[in-house]
Amino acid sequence: MNFHSMSVEELRNTRNDLQKRYETLCAAGLKLDLTRGKPGADQLDLSAPMLSLPGENYTSPNGTDCRNYGGVSGLPELRELFGELFATGTDRTLALGNASLQVMHDIVVFSLLHGNVDSARPWSAEPIKFLCPVPGYDRHFGITELYGIEMINVPMNPNGPDVEACAALLADDPSIKGMWLVPTYSNPTGYTVTDDVARRLLALDAAPDFRIFWDNAYAVHTLVENAPAPLPILDLAAEAGHPDRVYVFGSTSKITFAGAGVAAFASSKANLDWYVEHISAATIGPDKLNQLRHLQFLVDADGVRAHMARHRDIIAPKFQLVLDILDDRLGDAKIASWTTPEGGYFISLDVVDGTAARTIELAKNAGIALTAAGSAFPYKTDPHDRNIRIAPTFPTTDELRTAMDGVATCALLSATEVLLDSA
Ligand code: PMP
Repeated sequence: MNFHSMSVEELRNTRNDLQKRYETLCAAGLKLDLTRGKPGADQLDLSAPMLSLPGENYTSPNGTDCRNYGGVSGLPELRELFGELFATGTDRTLALGNASLQVMHDIVVFSLLHGNVDSARPWSAEPIKFLCPVPGYDRHFGITELYGIEMINVPMNPNGPDVEACAALLADDPSIKGMWLVPTYSNPTGYTVTDDVARRLLALDAAPDFRIFWDNAYAVHTLVENAPAPLPILDLAAEAGHPDRVYVFGSTSKITFAGAGVAAFASSKANLDWYVEHISAATIGPDKLNQLRHLQFLVDADGVRAHMARHRDIIAPKFQLVLDILDDRLGDAKIASWTTPEGGYFISLDVVDGTAARTIELAKNAGIALTAAGSAFPYKTDPHDRNIRIAPTFPTTDELRTAMDGVATCALLSATEVLLDSA
């Protein structure tokens, strides 16, 4: 029954029933974790053959002995593979180390210290800001927070960031130097930026050294038959007259081994030269043996897509299970809404305003770990205290069922509490 149309007495009875259910949950002594979007062990098993590669076969197709130093841009064949997956083309795409997040971090730091190719001064010469579509990825916000870059929330809509809000902010503020964005199956909503929104973002008036950090971490991570075709974002940027506006990131972290994959970085030639110049002070080159084993295992972009279909077979039922439980337990009460993503690693759950932190706390006390309240927002502050990020992939199906049922009980109980408070 809809909680909002209940009498105070009905609400009280419902709360008492939920309280009993919650006590039973606590008594079960659970220890479950829905916090981070990690692949499950069965997903990692899909890439097990890679552990014995490259073996004695350590020469790359173009004749590079991958045991030795060199090649800061990465193996050409892997650049080609990434260039196709991200629609950025071989020449504008680098194959790098194990973490795209590190590339993002380094680029922010290089820009603060030196400015980028279009900067008159280093970014750190004056206070600067980043636009942050919310809810978004906590580790993005962690980078900008660490370096004292002011973060401004803009709504993340089902078709991408609210372009009008971005336009209004950018128009008279040249201190806005960047924008975080997960364009495909965004973390945590699962939303994908449309061609139209992308073109409008690329055309906006902004500081010449304004950059969109186009983090295409989930470009191929589809839960349906086919992933959306990646936008040729670098070509679109050039067409819009801002060829240097976009930095494209991706990695194989959730394709092969999380934390032991290969990162990709793509951008205009000017931006790549700038990046390579700076990173060359820090490294003689990436781990080419890891790059080679990826190439031998995945072979090409089609190989990646076939591999992702195997991931999909494992994780799509887990997403469906979460959606079914949410629907079953929360549907009638009308106290929550949630996204139904076609890809990515998360479901974004919005509970009654003012109850997310309480729901997360109740779950924690019952042994169910959820991502900390506010995590998907800059400064860990959810202005409405309503968002909860659900990560279905890591637990087993049985654990997931128990944990989600528990989360639903906690959300319902918190809702009755605030509704009674305001009755
Ligand atoms: N970007 C997004 C949007 C992510 O969700 C993640 C992983 N959770 C990363 C980047 C991290 O990628 P990597 O392992 O390549 O650093």
